[in-house]
Amino acid sequence: MRNILELTCPELEEAVQAMGHQSFRARQLWQWLWRKGVREFSAMTNLARDFREQLMREWALDWPEVHEVQTSSDGTVKLLLRLADGALVETVLIPDKERYTQCLSCQIGCPMGCTFCSTGLMGFSRNMTGGEIAAQVLVARDYLRAHGLGDEVKNLVYMGMGEPLTNWDEVRRSLQILSNAEGLEFSRRRITLSTCAIKGKMDVFGIEGLALPAISLHAPTQEIRESLMPGAARWPIEELIAALQGMELKARERVTIEYILIKGVNDSLQHARQLVRLLSHLKCKINLIAYNPGPGIEYAAPAPGDVLAFEELLRKKGFTVTLRKSKGQDIAAACGQLKTEAQGRMNS
Ligand code: SF4
Repeated sequence: MRNILELTCPELEEAVQAMGHQSFRARQLWQWLWRKGVREFSAMTNLARDFREQLMREWALDWPEVHEVQTSSDGTVKLLLRLADGALVETVLIPDKERYTQCLSCQIGCPMGCTFCSTGLMGFSRNMTGGEIAAQVLVARDYLRAHGLGDEVKNLVYMGMGEPLTNWDEVRRSLQILSNAEGLEFSRRRITLSTCAIKGKMDVFGIEGLALPAISLHAPTQEIRESLMPGAARWPIEELIAALQGMELKARERVTIEYILIKGVNDSLQHARQLVRLLSHLKCKINLIAYNPGPGIEYAAPAPGDVLAFEELLRKKGFTVTLRKSKGQDIAAACGQLKTEAQGRMNS
C-alpha cells in the first residue's frame, strides 16, 4: 500500500475526490497528517468513520522509526531513522534558545564523494522520496514533545546526508509539503538548501524558489576543491562563482557561502586571502565551520587561533562572517557519522 505521506496537498485532494469525498475532507486530512502529526487514521476524529475505514484499507500511514538517538551535552540531538525498506538515515536537531534548527537528509549515502565527509565515503544507495524527506520533521517534532523539549522546529536546513540538487524532483516535493500553509508552514526564509552547486541546476533558487541557497564551497581554489570535493569540482570554481553572481535574489537576500576549515588544507591566512579575491564581487555572507573529524577520515580540526585569524581577515576585508560553533562535538554529529558507527556495530 502506498504511504499517504508521499502525496503533496493537491495530490491528496485528487485522491480524496477519487475515493468519493469532497475536497474539504482532504484539507482536514492534511491537517491531521502534517499539522497535528497524528500517526493513525483512527485518531482523526472529525472524519466520518466510513472514510477513516476506507483510508485504512487503501493507504498506509508510515513514519520513519527512530532507530537510535544521541544527545550531546550542548543539547544537540541526533536521530538515526529507519525507513520502510530498512535504510538508515540521519537527522540532527540543533538547539537555538528554546527552538531548534533541523538538519534534513535527502539521500541514503551521497554520490558526490567529498573526501572529508562520512556520508561521501559511504557511496550512494538511493534517493529518498519527498514524503520520507518531509516526514523527518514529523518525527523530530514528536521526539521533542515526548521529551519535554517543546516542539518547535523553527528552521530547516537541507544539510544532512545527500546532495539536494541530485535528487531535485523529490526535494522539491518535500519543499511543497513542508511549506504548505495548512500544514507545517515553513516559509522560504526558514528553509536553507545547502548544495555543493551543480552546473545547469542552479535555477531552482532565485526569487520564485522555495528555499534559500547555501553553497558548500569549502575551498578558495580549484585545486583544493578538487581534492576535497571531487564530484562538485567538475564545475570549475570560477564558473561557479560567476553563476552565483548572476543569481536573482530578493532585495535583502544574499548567497550564503559555507566554508569548513580543515587543518593544514584550507585554513591559513593565504587561503583566506585567496577566498577574499574569489568572492570579491559576490553579494554573500560567509559561514565558517571548524571541521569536526569523523572516524576513518584523515583530516583534522583546525587550531582555534587559526580559525579566529581566518575570520578576522575576512571581516577586515568587509565580509559578513558567522563562525558557526560546531555543535554536538561529543556525539557523532557530523553528517554520516552516526550511521557509519551504527552500521559498524551491526556488522561486527
Ligand atoms: Fe554529499 Fe554533502 Fe557529504 Fe559532500 S558533504 S559527500 S555533498 S553529504
